[in-house]
Amino acid sequence: MSRRIYHIQKALPELAELEALINEGRKEMRISAPAHIHHAGTQLPIYSIEMGSRDAIAPTLALIGGVHGVERIGSQIILAFLRSLIHRLEWDEQLQQQLEKLRLLFIPIVNPSGMWENSRCNANGVDLMRNAPVEAEHRTPMLVGGHRLSRHLPWYRGRRNAAMEPENQALTSVIAQTLYQQPLCISLDCHSGFGSRDRIWFPYAKSMNPWPGLAEAHALTQLFEHSYPNHSMYLFEPQAHSYTTNGDVWDYLYDGYQQANPNGVFLPLTLEMGSWAWVRKNPLHLLHFHGLFNPVLPHRHQRILRRHITLFDFMMSALANQTAWLPQGQAHKQQQHSLALQRWYPNLAEKDQPLGSC
Ligand SMILES: [Zn+2]
Repeated sequence: MSRRIYHIQKALPELAELEALINEGRKEMRISAPAHIHHAGTQLPIYSIEMGSRDAIAPTLALIGGVHGVERIGSQIILAFLRSLIHRLEWDEQLQQQLEKLRLLFIPIVNPSGMWENSRCNANGVDLMRNAPVEAEHRTPMLVGGHRLSRHLPWYRGRRNAAMEPENQALTSVIAQTLYQQPLCISLDCHSGFGSRDRIWFPYAKSMNPWPGLAEAHALTQLFEHSYPNHSMYLFEPQAHSYTTNGDVWDYLYDGYQQANPNGVFLPLTLEMGSWAWVRKNPLHLLHFHGLFNPVLPHRHQRILRRHITLFDFMMSALANQTAWLPQGQAHKQQQHSLALQRWYPNLAEKDQPLGSC
């Protein structure tokens, strides 16, 4: 075993697993490494993997993980799903046909140096989810909302006017290349550590006001809740209902998409796995820092690895069957927008704010 493989298996087993999966599934994948992060004497690649249709306008699902290094479970659920896909593609004709009209993009480990160090930030002490050039429109919570005080405090945004960190530059270049020309795409960035329920957040993080994709976000939420009524563990909501932040990368990428493709639909979602429930069930988590963000006991870990497969499958089906739910025409869009206001912004719904004014 080479020195590199030994160190990676010890400090970053998720990268070892990803490289093994790349070897197993190579014939189904288009693999690139838009950046390498030099850390602990080792070059750590940020891999981007595409599968499925090569059609320029095929709807696309992007699964992203490991933005916060300590939230390893986000990478692990994506790797578990990727493994399952590779093996199902060997025999599942329905899946093969589905992928003929759908593109999948995986970036399972965005922040390998942070993961290596079991830290939220990257090795420069920067919180990648506070690092984009985006300023909040409302007052943000102290520190948590992103700050420029010191890299030794969590939620550090990086220096003012500095370029984004290399991890975010890599993420941005892949998303811009792969999604900005697509008429329909969904990304799901997998995190853990906030609250006791699994939340599915949509933008904006920078603003308490409704974002332009609200009608589509509501249509997708409704489709999921009608199709899977017993999966009520997910709470769909705007991220700003929990807290507003500066520098959110998905706010930045969404605005970039809108500029490049004003008629397209991009739903950048975040899965925030509610780890407080794991802590409550087993206070042992409190003894380990990473236990606050990751399931510790083997049976619970396995349960979390399978818990979100239905959600991933749903998103693939929703993209492949867009005419079934995507608002078509102004009247349908207005209807979904009004329902969304009633659900998430009841004060605005009373004023019946028309579409396009948010
Ligand atoms: Zn996170």
